[in-house]
Amino acid sequence: MSAESPNRREAILSYLEEHPDSFEITEQVEDFGYDPIKRVHKQDFLDYLETAYEEWILEGGHPNGVLPGTIPHYKVARLGRLKAANCLAKSGEYCFDMSAVITKDTFKAAWNAAQVTLTATKELVRVGHVYEKGQADGTVNVGSDPPGIYALVRPPGHHAQSDVCGGYCFLNNIAIATQWLIDQPDLKGKHGGPKKIAILDVDFHHGNGTQEIFYTTSNPLYTSLHSVDDYPYFTGSDQECGEGEGLGFNVNIPLHGATTDDEYLEKFEKLIRDHVIPYDADYILVSLGVDTYKDDPIAGFLLTSDAYPRMGKAIREIGLPTLFVQEGGYCIEKLGLNVGGILQGFIGKSA
Ligand SMILES: [Zn+2]
Repeated sequence: MSAESPNRREAILSYLEEHPDSFEITEQVEDFGYDPIKRVHKQDFLDYLETAYEEWILEGGHPNGVLPGTIPHYKVARLGRLKAANCLAKSGEYCFDMSAVITKDTFKAAWNAAQVTLTATKELVRVGHVYEKGQADGTVNVGSDPPGIYALVRPPGHHAQSDVCGGYCFLNNIAIATQWLIDQPDLKGKHGGPKKIAILDVDFHHGNGTQEIFYTTSNPLYTSLHSVDDYPYFTGSDQECGEGEGLGFNVNIPLHGATTDDEYLEKFEKLIRDHVIPYDADYILVSLGVDTYKDDPIAGFLLTSDAYPRMGKAIREIGLPTLFVQEGGYCIEKLGLNVGGILQGFIGKSA
């Protein structure tokens, strides 16, 4: 059974509901359609995700879902033969590991997660505008109470690349939100151009998908702290700094597997100081994974629940409108407390 299960959502929602003085919950979702998703993901990949299960069943595949049999290894693949004729072959072309099973409702769930994230992003623009106006007319002090929105979504997104799924991820929610913000013609940043976005990926695992999608652009800045030598294994080194226009705008901080609260916070605050603040963004988008927790069943540094409000506080001190998008975190017993801890720290409270 996958660690990425529906009871993750229930665990987080319960915590939020138990703290009505801190969180206002809404279930309203706007449908933004396909366009913002197509800005990040390739059409043939989206066609595959949408039709794979049906095709798989028609071809006699197991009803449990679509899983690759063969993934074209770089030592084996010959590019001329990559176009797959049937669903079993396609599943290898469009999926990079064995953890992203496509079931009957997978596309719908991933679609909904993207739409919830976009709805939250639109709300970020609204509250961000109020905040910026308040700063301009002096009714809001610089750096105090920056507005925050949290998107409680699953499946997560940060491992999904432009045309390949994996790591429980199908559509890259935070990348879709980022690109949507940049694409809004009427939304100008403080420098006059499109809004500048800084992504903070705090999931235990490297966000290979978000990195790949934005590797050659200077907006957003992508930053990630993650475990060295862990899943997805082949990305996330500090040598991966971006390419072309994107050179210098991809910052990976690999950390050793036994990282503690103090070690993590020191690296996190340094990352903010050295890279995020100088970037001078308009918005902060956080890939919020709490599989950094010490008892996480599939990952885990040695972080305790005390670390999360401290992380939230460090994000608060950047002083910008912030969107939090749920990624990993699989210790169900502490999931609400740990996610809630970051959010509480961000609004200036303790968990
Ligand atoms: Zn993770």
